[in-house]
Amino acid sequence: MATLVLVEHDNTELNPMTNRAVAAAAALGQPVDCLVSGVDCRIVAEQASRLHGVRTVLLASAEGLRHGPAEAVARVVMTVAEKYDAIVAPASTGGKDSLPRVAALLDVTHVSNVTKIIDPWTFEHPIVAGNAIEVVRTTQAIRILTVRTSAFEPVQGGGDATIVEITPDLAGVKGVVVSANTVVSDRPELSGARVVVSGGRALASRENFERLLHPLADALGAALGASRAAVDAGFAPGDWQVGQTGKIVAPEVYIAIGISGAVQHLAGMKDAKLIIAINKDADAPIFDAADYGLVGDLFEIVPQLVSELALP
Ligand code: FAD
Repeated sequence: MATLVLVEHDNTELNPMTNRAVAAAAALGQPVDCLVSGVDCRIVAEQASRLHGVRTVLLASAEGLRHGPAEAVARVVMTVAEKYDAIVAPASTGGKDSLPRVAALLDVTHVSNVTKIIDPWTFEHPIVAGNAIEVVRTTQAIRILTVRTSAFEPVQGGGDATIVEITPDLAGVKGVVVSANTVVSDRPELSGARVVVSGGRALASRENFERLLHPLADALGAALGASRAAVDAGFAPGDWQVGQTGKIVAPEVYIAIGISGAVQHLAGMKDAKLIIAINKDADAPIFDAADYGLVGDLFEIVPQLVSELALP
């Protein structure tokens, strides 16, 4: 049989999470196809067709798929599901919404947040906020997996897959997304960013986030992130939250500023390749995870960093 990967995109651009999901799918050891569902998104199918190791890209285009509502995406997957014995999606908001629905429609269970493929039927995934790793072996005829993309190295380009258009069967879809307001930003998208500058409760206000963290992020070409305490206090928007109940990131560099390093925050960023922490408390738990730690007052250190970075 074969593995189907749900492509993450915004109708114009393939999200790099897909490259990592394809890598996870390839580890199952069988041909990998991709499914692009959206509207006027052939350009995304072309990008997916160039991913290394992809055999075929299925392209489902319909107005009802413009905002990728999970109910409709699940219906599209069901149109082709009988050809696959494994269906994989990034453990993103979309993947976590649509694949459990597919599992329900197929009357099988879904294995969530897979971080390691031990063999094609055995998977590792974190449970209890990343404090334990569970090994799951499934005997189901079809495996439904959401994968934690930060745990897999991305596949590169060089592929030349065939694109096949399919007619989505959206009969029975009851929900319609009337409109969606997406935040437009010049900064890199948090989940796929190479560098993340993240602030905590210690920033003390939205103005301080803007005054201190924005210039640092600008100087580094970084995405901005935040702890849940900072988000809850209204210092940063909800889609910046990193952690167990926020986004999972694995950038090259993660700079934690005024963040204590609670286990729920670490669950979202501990896979970063290099962690730099700034905290005035030398005993803060974030220093246990950090590669470099600066003990001191962020209100002094961050402006110094920005002025050093601004030097020619
Ligand atoms: P604090 O814990 O208040 O830490 C602030 C840090 O700033 C301290 O270490 C302090 O020493 C330092 N500091 C203070 N002033 C300065 C200064 N001037 N200069 C330098 N350092 C300074 N949290 C998340 O982040 N993400 C999640 O997804 C998440 N999910 C959760 C899910 C559940 C079910 C629960 C119960 C909690 C969750 N939390 C999450 C919350 C988490 O437990 C912590 O409360 C939160 O991460 C703390 O945020 P913080 O580090 O910004 O704040």
